[in-house]
Amino acid sequence: MLSGKTKVCGIIANPVEHSMSPLLQNFYAEKTGIDFVYVPFKVEDEAVEAAVKGAYALNMVGMNVTIPHKQQVMKYLKSVDGDAKAIGAVNTLVRIEGGFKGYNTDAAGLLRAIAEAGIVPRDESCILLGAGGAAKAVAYTLAKVGAKEVYLLNRNEIKARHLADDINRLAGRKLVIPMSILDYKKIPDKSYLAFQSTSVGMHPDVDFAPVEDEEFYEKIHTGVDLIYTPMETKFMKYVTAAGAKAMNGLDMLLYQGIIAYELWNPEITVEEDVIKEARELLKKQLEESRT
Ligand code: NAP
Repeated sequence: MLSGKTKVCGIIANPVEHSMSPLLQNFYAEKTGIDFVYVPFKVEDEAVEAAVKGAYALNMVGMNVTIPHKQQVMKYLKSVDGDAKAIGAVNTLVRIEGGFKGYNTDAAGLLRAIAEAGIVPRDESCILLGAGGAAKAVAYTLAKVGAKEVYLLNRNEIKARHLADDINRLAGRKLVIPMSILDYKKIPDKSYLAFQSTSVGMHPDVDFAPVEDEEFYEKIHTGVDLIYTPMETKFMKYVTAAGAKAMNGLDMLLYQGIIAYELWNPEITVEEDVIKEARELLKKQLEESRT
């Protein structure tokens, strides 16, 4: 039930129609008993500044920001949290005095998702496939938690080098080793924690993995694919066939939203039983959206 006191949040994106966030955020509001509503806004590139200023003028508590506005929005914020600044992208705005503060909950969402799966990257030798926006959040997370080394493989090697330079500067050491994905055989023989952050294998192109060679997967003890449609990607099938543990990106998606909800409603914590229900809701919705 909406009232004059209802806290209003929303998401700005383009397109926005496919977003699962309104469903989940309104579900958390219902389950946590907060007078809160969350609505989708389709915003064109040239209207991002007006959207942010308008949201502030309308007394909105916060916003999610997603593709293609995650970088552009940073110009219109009162301040930006340290993690978001380092990653160079913002996906959550929180109302503060005089404007919005920007956060990036993707990295924190990933960290919480893998921690709950018992995956601890500290002192680990890692492989990271991809050098796009999601890879940046993964690489930053690995630097922050003290991974030992990260072999960064990308189709466009120049992009891999740029990302490696950025992260190595932040880490203050030569943590990330950039490579062309075609050179995957040059990775030293060891057992790796691998993150798959390319869009290869995502629905509807489910019959592809970024590396199509069983031998490569023998070097992996745990494989985390950031993709969540399908639930089991071809990358994950290769990892499992090599006898290793595999997980998808569903919980990262789930937790980045929960962390945002808790930033807007700092007085509450989303409890485990609500998270479980939300996970099932999200799975069902993703399945329905594919059929
Ligand atoms: P992006 O910035 O567009 O980056 C795409 C990446 O995929 C680049 O590294 C690109 O390589 C690589 N790639 C694309 N097509 C390829 C191909 N045919 N062969 C080899 N590499 C290819 O996208 P993004 O935002 O990083 O998202 C990447 C994936 O992560 C998506 O599937 C997205 O759904 C997922 N994701 C999940 C979450 C979550 O919460 N679980 C959050 C964010 C993203 P080049 O640089 O060579 O083009």
